[in-house]
Amino acid sequence: MAELKTYQDKRDLQRTQEPAGDKAAAAAGQRYAMHKHDASQLHYDLRLEQDGVLRSWALPKGPSLQVGEKRLAIEVEDHPLDYGNFEGVIPQGNYGGGTVMLWDRGQWSRGDDSDADKINFILHGEKLNGAWTLVRMAGKSDRNKNKGKNWLLIKRHDDE
Ligand code: MN
Repeated sequence: MAELKTYQDKRDLQRTQEPAGDKAAAAAGQRYAMHKHDASQLHYDLRLEQDGVLRSWALPKGPSLQVGEKRLAIEVEDHPLDYGNFEGVIPQGNYGGGTVMLWDRGQWSRGDDSDADKINFILHGEKLNGAWTLVRMAGKSDRNKNKGKNWLLIKRHDDE
């Protein structure tokens, strides 16, 4: 089961209404959520349930609906499953300060041809339905603090 220590270390949970993330939940379904987060830079946050947490990627330009179009997706710390219901204002001066809006939610399914560096998946959301791929970009340098954290989100062809 995944750990939420990084999530907790980044936050002063006395000062934000975000979920405490006391424990990672036992895996049940495969929840999906997309937040619209009006922080210092407006972005979207894609969250996919895996191993009892929500794996999370910040999407500076949001998801693309154009087949073949690539969008940067920066992997951030795992979030607690409760975060899939969170909406609210994180007070300024706190990590991620700004308004968090639940933009979409639903379920996702992971393709069998996925691995640690590539996730083929289908979203079954209220807004988004269809197939995407997340593929990890090779880090160019060990000095890059984002080494291994940068992914591309690519819209795949589907029938939606
Ligand atoms: Mn965010």
